[in-house]
Order: sequence, then C-alpha cells, then structure tokens
Amino acid sequence: MDLNKYKNLKRGIQDNYINVNPIQRGGVLTGEARKALLEFGDGYSVCDYCFDSRVDLVQKPPIRDFTMDVAKFLNVDEVRFTAGCRHAMWAIMHTITEPGNTIVLDSLAHYTSYLGAEANRLDVVEVPHTGHPMFHIDPEMYAQKFEEVKRHTGNLPVLALLTHVDSRYGNLANAEAVGKICKQYGVPLILNTAYSTGVMPVDAKKLRADFLTCSCHKSWAASAPIGILAASSEWSYKVFGKSRITGDWSGCSFNKKEVALFGCPPVFGAPIATLMASFPTVVERVKHWDEEVRKACYFVGEIEKIDGICQIGHKPKQHTLINIESPSFHAVAGKDRRKGYFLYRELKKRRIMGVRPGMSKSFEINTYGLSWEQVKYVAEAFKDIALKHGICVEP
Ligand SMILES: *Cc1c(COP(=O)(O)O)cnc(C)c1O
Repeated sequence: MDLNKYKNLKRGIQDNYINVNPIQRGGVLTGEARKALLEFGDGYSVCDYCFDSRVDLVQKPPIRDFTMDVAKFLNVDEVRFTAGCRHAMWAIMHTITEPGNTIVLDSLAHYTSYLGAEANRLDVVEVPHTGHPMFHIDPEMYAQKFEEVKRHTGNLPVLALLTHVDSRYGNLANAEAVGKICKQYGVPLILNTAYSTGVMPVDAKKLRADFLTCSCHKSWAASAPIGILAASSEWSYKVFGKSRITGDWSGCSFNKKEVALFGCPPVFGAPIATLMASFPTVVERVKHWDEEVRKACYFVGEIEKIDGICQIGHKPKQHTLINIESPSFHAVAGKDRRKGYFLYRELKKRRIMGVRPGMSKSFEINTYGLSWEQVKYVAEAFKDIALKHGICVEP
C-alpha cells in the first residue's frame, strides 16, 4: 500500500481557470462559506450545543432559525435538510407510497428520480417529451397520463414528479401548469428544483407544489452532501414522521428522530455550515437571475456563429445550462489522432475546464455566475478553436 499518493491532494484546477462544468457552477463556495468550512470542517462540528437530538433544532450555530428562514425563502410550510436532492426524493417516495404503487414523472427526470422509485418498488409512468430539438414537456400530458394510469390500474397515481429544470437541456418546465393539473386530480406533486432553487426565484405555493427537493451542493453554494426537502403542512407530518420504536431490552426510544431522515440527516458539519454561511448571498443572487439568463443567451448567439453549431432544447434559453450539438467539432475529432479529446485539450490550453473529456458531438456547459468578461472569453475561445481547425465562423 502506497500511502504517499494521499499526500498533498490537489484538484488540478488553478484559480485562474474558468470552470463551465454544468453541475459545478452553482455550488462554488462563497468567501463566507470558505471561512465556515475551516471553522466547521471537523466531523460532527455543529453538535457542540445540540440538546434536541436533531440538526435542524440546533440553536448555536443558529440552524433552528435558518430552517425557518429557508422555509420563508421558498414559501413552504416545513423544511428539513437531507443528504442531497436524491435523498429528499427517496424520502418522499418512501413515506407516502407503498410498494407496487404507480408514480408519474417527466421523461427528462434525473436518474436519481428513477432510482428513488426503484428503491421504493414503485412503477414508473413517464410523461413523454417532444423529442429533438426542443425536448419540451407539455403540462397537459400529465392529465393524460393520470387518466391512463387510472384506466390501467383502477387508481390515480399516488405521486407526480416534475423536474423543474432538467440536467440535459436546461429546459425550464411550466411548473405552475403541472401544479394546477395535479391539484385538480388531487395527486401530490414533487417539484425537483436541483437546478433552480438557490440560483433563481422559486415560490412553492405559487407553483402549487406539495414538495420541493433541492440540491445545495449544486445550486446553493454549499459543500457536499446537502439537500433540502420542503413540504406543505398537509404532508409534513407524514414525510417527517418520527420514530415510534422502543427497544425492549435497552428501554430506549427515539421519539424526536425522523425516520426517513435517518433520525438526524448526515449534514452536521461542513455541509450545513457552508450552506448557512452562503445563504445571505443566495437570497441576494436569485434577484439577479435575469442577468444570468442574458449571459446564457449571449453565449448561445456567439457560439452559433460557428458553422454547424446548434443549441438544442428550449429557445431562447431560460436557464444557464446550455446543450450544444457540434457536428463540425465531431468531424474534426474524427480526423484528429487525439479523437474527441481535442476539444477538451484545446479548451484546457485556454484555461477553460468542465467540458467532459472525449465529448465533441454534443456537450453541455453552464455559464451561471461567470462575469460578462468570462462569458465573452469562453465564447471567443470556442470560435478560435473552430477557426484553427478550419471551421467557418461568421464575423
Ligand atoms: C443534480 C441533480 C440531482 C441530484 O442531486 P443531489 O443533490 O446530488 O442528490 C437530482 N435531480 C436533478 C434534476 C439534478 O440535476
């Protein structure tokens, strides 16, 4: 065993690099979070003054107040922290469904939505998208699928899930319309906001979502792993159900511990401390979402000047996650001895990280939180690479 390889672990990304990795933009720590990370980096560091057996009830540091402030920020009744968005989705499914039940979800849902259903032994019915190039989800299709499930199984689905912004095309779904349909049918709705809350304004009540699931390491400038499960008061008693078990021999009971959150969710150090420290910035930054979208639209306009480059998904962009089809880059990659890696290497030379190595046929990037100067620099870099490899670029 060579233990030397664990010495001086480095990420290999210098400070002067521009990272456009879709999953990493919204999770970049704020300066305040970096300080909190040093202060609370030790294991169970927020448990010094825990008297109520749960992390959301700790008063020093002020997590109890923070829990209520997050609920206000999202306009929901109750909030808990989870080990990520996937844990939040799993926990809702686990507490309000029975094995063999059917749920309806959009066909752009994240793999962790499907795995949550699988782990809870649920049948999944998908709402189709419109396919290439828009990949649009029509809200009316939820009503159709509800009827279909009822015809086939005799019952309405027990739960619906909508991905607010999907991770492939960065499409913003019409959550309010889906929320309205779910209310009409009396089917509870999970709005999966992994790519929306924390970067853009989201109001659960306005969108008629019974649950929100959030990813704070993706979109709230926090260290992993941490997510949020938000629920309306109608459902909170069920999803935040407490332990009723008593040990016959030990005589112990755990009646404050919430079962689907593992009693106390495993966020009691760097994750909750960094999330809290970034919160004032997050509250402020969602107000500037329009400007972020303008940068994304500008980027698309510029990169589409390259011959054969086309943004797919909703157009114009309503989110900063951008999916680009690039057959012209792919053709270059075919001739290049470095194959698909040519794009990765060319970008790296220009200090741009985050386009997956080996990808050239299509790729995703996220401009969230980049300055105008950086967005322009990245767009120019792509054009420069195209010209260098003989691809035409409109002036
Ligand atoms: C990233 C992502 C997830 C997973 O989030 P975690 O917090 O890492 O569990 C779930 N759903 C969507 C739509 C995502 O983009």
